[in-house]
Amino acid sequence: MNTIDEIHELYARGELSPAELIAITRERIEAEEPELNAFINLFLDEAEEQANALGKPPEPMPPLWGIPFGVKDNICYQDHETTCASRILLGYRPPYTATALRRVLEAGAIIVGKTNMDEFAMGSTGEYSYFGPTSNPLNKDHVPGGTSSGSAAAVGAGLVPFALGSDTGGSVRQPGAWCGVVGFKPSYGRVSRYGLIAFASSLDQIGVISRSVRDSLRVFLVMGGYDPMDSTTSRMPLPSEQEIIRLHRETKLRVGLPREYFGQGTDPEIADAVMEGAMLLEKDGYTLKEISLPHTRYVIPCYQIVVAAECSSNLARFDGIRYGFRAEGTSSLEEIYVKTRSEGFGPEVKRRIAAGAFVLSAGYQDKYFLRAQKVRRLIRRDYDDAFKEVDVILSPTFPVPPVKKGESLADPLAVYLMDTLTAAANLAGIPGISVPGHPDSRGFRPGIHISAPYMGEETMFIAALRLEELQNHPDSRAP
Ligand code: GLN
Repeated sequence: MNTIDEIHELYARGELSPAELIAITRERIEAEEPELNAFINLFLDEAEEQANALGKPPEPMPPLWGIPFGVKDNICYQDHETTCASRILLGYRPPYTATALRRVLEAGAIIVGKTNMDEFAMGSTGEYSYFGPTSNPLNKDHVPGGTSSGSAAAVGAGLVPFALGSDTGGSVRQPGAWCGVVGFKPSYGRVSRYGLIAFASSLDQIGVISRSVRDSLRVFLVMGGYDPMDSTTSRMPLPSEQEIIRLHRETKLRVGLPREYFGQGTDPEIADAVMEGAMLLEKDGYTLKEISLPHTRYVIPCYQIVVAAECSSNLARFDGIRYGFRAEGTSSLEEIYVKTRSEGFGPEVKRRIAAGAFVLSAGYQDKYFLRAQKVRRLIRRDYDDAFKEVDVILSPTFPVPPVKKGESLADPLAVYLMDTLTAAANLAGIPGISVPGHPDSRGFRPGIHISAPYMGEETMFIAALRLEELQNHPDSRAP
């Protein structure tokens, strides 16, 4: 599957039409899907109709004209089932479309389906779905990473050039890293959350998974910006695509390498791939500096308390009365609630709801929830201090390579720790992108994570575009 610009060139030259591309997409999906399980629902007939209705390429072409894409199943699409990969939402058809998705559709893109995910976006491997696990397209015995697992697998397998995901603690960047593609999460408030089914509202953002950094930039600029339907969106204007493209070769930035992110617990091959990326930038005129993010070891305790608290409130609305599934054989209102929630939610969601109810309970609020809010401020301050000295921060995305299916399910705590490097960006509200490094000895491509200050997407994309370009250069790999 090509990048958006490559497809647009083929369209402009008359060598391909959107209808032909949808036919190719259908064939690929039919061949891959039985093993991959990247989609929960497919709308290929509708996609074909939409492609036929597009006609000849207009001049200029709208930014995503005729580009097929997938959407994570926690993003509402009017009149189409939206399940969050949970039994409790089976059959739920939202009466409206999420703003980010609407903007992507209005830019001419063609939705081919809703992608598989960990239930309610809780998990790290793509195995906590009511519809079964997704496979990693680079090695089907392995997991793709979560929770935007289907979105990353679909892009990684070349089924669609891009897909939308959501990122609360790393869920766009992590599966991007494990599937060898780009995963981008914007600053908090840069992309509307209207129509994104809430997990942890102070952390959630809609992000993009794509085959190139430039495609993520394009989609971000289409879906981002102020939305009157989401009061947490910023009115700050979005950067310009042309300006970033123009600047990315001449701008030489200062890169911070956090000492805490390369130590114990980080796979050596992954650390090497990140260092190789850093060296390429240095040779290009960037400066490298070791920095410290001293509160790194508190990221996961803090993150887990915040997400548990917020999700236990957000998921209270799923009670069998208004949405989707309701348990059979109940005789009282309370029984409807209890039975529906017991049968409707999977094990990870229940763990988080129970933990959230606990940390918010009267006797423990100060000890856990309020404490976590204070720690969150310290984590944010670490970044404020670091960004006084450097423009971007480079680190691994996931500290470990993809695991085999079933390998990690027995130990939820170990899985939580894998979020350390990405969740800090959500706690601080800053943007982050995972760029695939050179393939390692296992055939995977370690993710190189670049973060920038709050609302610093322009700087982040400048570094990411340059890194991608330097890595793609045939001389970039030391013999
Ligand atoms: N692995 C994280 C969690 O389980 C990330 C989730 C996310 O970003 N949606 O909470």
